Amino acid sequence: MTIVELIKNEKAKKEIDVIAGQEKVTPEFIINGILLGEITVPKNINRQLKNPCGVGSGLKTKVNANIGTSPDCASIDYELEKMNECLRAGADAVMDLSTGGNITKIRENILKHCPVPLGTVPIYQVACETFGRGKKIIDMDPKHIFSVIEEQAQQGVDFMTVHCGVTKKTVEVLNRTKRLGGIVSRGGSFLAKWIGSNDAENPLYEQFDRLLDIAEKYDVTLSLGDGLRPGCLKDASDAAQIAELKVLGDLVLRARERNVQVIVEGPGHMPLNQIESHVKEAKKIIHDAPYYLLGPLVTDVAAGYDHITCAIGGAIAASAGADFICYVTPAEHLRLPKKEDVYLGVIAARIAAHAADIAKGVPNAQKWDDEFSKWRKALNWEEQQKIALDPEKFKSERGKLLPNDPNVCTMCSQYCAIKEEK
Ligand code: SF4
Repeated sequence: MTIVELIKNEKAKKEIDVIAGQEKVTPEFIINGILLGEITVPKNINRQLKNPCGVGSGLKTKVNANIGTSPDCASIDYELEKMNECLRAGADAVMDLSTGGNITKIRENILKHCPVPLGTVPIYQVACETFGRGKKIIDMDPKHIFSVIEEQAQQGVDFMTVHCGVTKKTVEVLNRTKRLGGIVSRGGSFLAKWIGSNDAENPLYEQFDRLLDIAEKYDVTLSLGDGLRPGCLKDASDAAQIAELKVLGDLVLRARERNVQVIVEGPGHMPLNQIESHVKEAKKIIHDAPYYLLGPLVTDVAAGYDHITCAIGGAIAASAGADFICYVTPAEHLRLPKKEDVYLGVIAARIAAHAADIAKGVPNAQKWDDEFSKWRKALNWEEQQKIALDPEKFKSERGKLLPNDPNVCTMCSQYCAIKEEK
């Protein structure tokens, strides 16, 4: 039974109270949001989740961090270290995108140790296993796709990216669109190739009810992936992206009819001036389902600093109504992230999320800033450190150059403007 069904049968009091308490809203607000499909609580029935969270309208913007192996770097221990860094930095959810090593075992370990909702992209496992059998992406077997989805759902995965909107029609639109960057989503590219070579419909779209059966059975939240998302500014908001979004909007309604929780993924790369209108329009198209943004990165040229380009876009997107933002690390577009990168990525995304929450008027968001400013004005360094967004960074930076007068800092020393006012 999904949480939607539990609520309809008045059996989800404990879960609702936890989320309402975290968000400082009433249980009725959460219940209403879930029933409308505007709030989701990604939690598989087979998971004991220490820190569940709600995602959606009126709640704090949540931050997801992607980890996972690649064929070149496939250490389970190191991925667990990365997961712990994401959690230490304050990620609300983690996705395991492993494509190297024993993927099932890696996921099993991550699920065992991860206290927050865990997401995956099952088509990656399908592709890896297809390759492992000496075949190509175009040989992926629909039965295999659904068996991997069921295996992961049974294992306890809380939310899954499924690229149901890459269809024969949307791929046709894409092929007519003169894109600079083409397809940049791994899952999207697998399915577009498969559709083209087999002249067949995407099984995730064609057999969407079969997907809903699995999601309903385990209460897996479907994250409808944007397989045709723009991968550069020039392609932002093009016909292919919008065509896919419209398909996803329709699937949102079909999921709701089955009491299946659903969120929708969005871009990608997008010029800053398009973000606000895009998010508002997208929320209409997807019937106010939670909107999960993979960025957007506001410039293409800052490789090495894409946690910053993502945070700029993420702050604008979330302030315009996006509910969930996926971090980007400084390693984006260059290599697999290391644990230092994931930490920085989460912190940057949390800054974006919190800045947006203040703008959105999320309950109590600005209270944190007001409290911090009170201690800054009082030159109380201990209290500032305690409630800083990253207390460790606060301590280490201040400790690098201590002033003679411990009340001030070395920026202005005896000319401290705040001290003079006292
Ligand atoms: S020394 Fe300057 S920067 Fe430091 S607390 Fe005082 S006014 Fe602020």
